[in-house]
Amino acid sequence: MRKTALIVFIAICASCSAKTPSLEAQLDPIAESYVRLALALGEHDDDYVDAYFGPAAWREQAKQEALDLAAITVAADKLLAELQALDTHGAEKHVALRHDYLLSHLGSMAAISRMRNGETLSFDEESAAVYGFVAPSFPLEHYDKALQELDALLPGDGPPHERYQAFLQQFRIPEDKVKAVVRKGLEACRERTRQHMTMVEGENFSLEFVTGEPWGAYNWYQGNGQGLIQINLDRPKYLGTSIGLGCHEGYPGHHLFSTMLDDAYLQKRGWVEFSVLPLFSPQGIIFEGSGDLASRVAFPGDERTAFLRDVIAPIAGLETADFKTATAVRDAVRELRYAGIEAARHYLDGDWSKEQTIEWLTTYALVGPESIDAWFGFTARYRAYRINYTLGEDLVLSFVRARNPDASPEGDWQALAELLSLPPTPALFADKR
Ligand SMILES: [Zn+2]
Repeated sequence: MRKTALIVFIAICASCSAKTPSLEAQLDPIAESYVRLALALGEHDDDYVDAYFGPAAWREQAKQEALDLAAITVAADKLLAELQALDTHGAEKHVALRHDYLLSHLGSMAAISRMRNGETLSFDEESAAVYGFVAPSFPLEHYDKALQELDALLPGDGPPHERYQAFLQQFRIPEDKVKAVVRKGLEACRERTRQHMTMVEGENFSLEFVTGEPWGAYNWYQGNGQGLIQINLDRPKYLGTSIGLGCHEGYPGHHLFSTMLDDAYLQKRGWVEFSVLPLFSPQGIIFEGSGDLASRVAFPGDERTAFLRDVIAPIAGLETADFKTATAVRDAVRELRYAGIEAARHYLDGDWSKEQTIEWLTTYALVGPESIDAWFGFTARYRAYRINYTLGEDLVLSFVRARNPDASPEGDWQALAELLSLPPTPALFADKR
């Protein structure tokens, strides 16, 4: 009897002393190291840290320590190994996603660190290493077929791309009306979102109009529910830009998503990795994809045209625009949506000269002459980030469709809300990896 009792006593003691901390607790120190490394990498690349709203001392320390790129890569690889060694079996869904988030973001960080240190990756290698996905490639026949469909819709004579640019002009917002249209678009996107989703209390944003930037618009999240949306006045703006930008940068796009992640994970759970937003990272593809889908959720089907025709066109003084043809043209142009990625891939990989790239962009990506320089400026600076818009939207669409296969993904607030409530990581699209 005494012997049995002793064995039981030892067994209980052993289980007490060897109790493993929860997965969530094991992730906490790795998450802090990840944030500190992101700040260290940000010292080498001004674009890398898109937003940081954690302790100011961590950023100061990153500046003081000035880790070199080789050291950052080694440290990221070490954290990756620690993450891979953790047992995630049976973890609660959000914690398992947190594990994948850290894994994918540290892998991406190591790739960026190597690239900034001189390693060369092809466009597709960079897409896979930094964002977790590779954009599909389509044969020329796919693009020619789409152009033929467009050709049949557009009025006038001449090559489709020239007639497309001419057709667009009737929707172009006069410069002196741009600010009013953008404000109205943002206001409408916010209002519709408020009717369908729970907004974080106290969230808000300020709006600025700028020039001379390599992007068309930008959402700078500042933490604590506050954001800054900048609109670049250099780029031509069309009627659809009103809700395109308003929903993408604001609601239910970037600003809303940033406030939700901050509130759910940094504020309520204390997950410090959500105090930093690395631009070149797997969350980028989910941010841009949900941003691009946002206006289709907020203005589904005919509601888009009705809003542009009845609310935006009068503000812009463009009431006579041909909205009926525009809807069909827009659908046809969607079939060309990977043409810009194709151009970036071939140009950055050195397969195409600048002249060849311009010809492709003009013909198949329908980039107008006044936007060509901006295209090259963006591509040189952000490289494979370009996949995040088109491929990102297709990924997000696949997530939405999977939740409600029989309904249109347009107007599906519930599925979008679910996506925006989860840690943005490639595991959400496991079947697409
Ligand atoms: Zn965006």
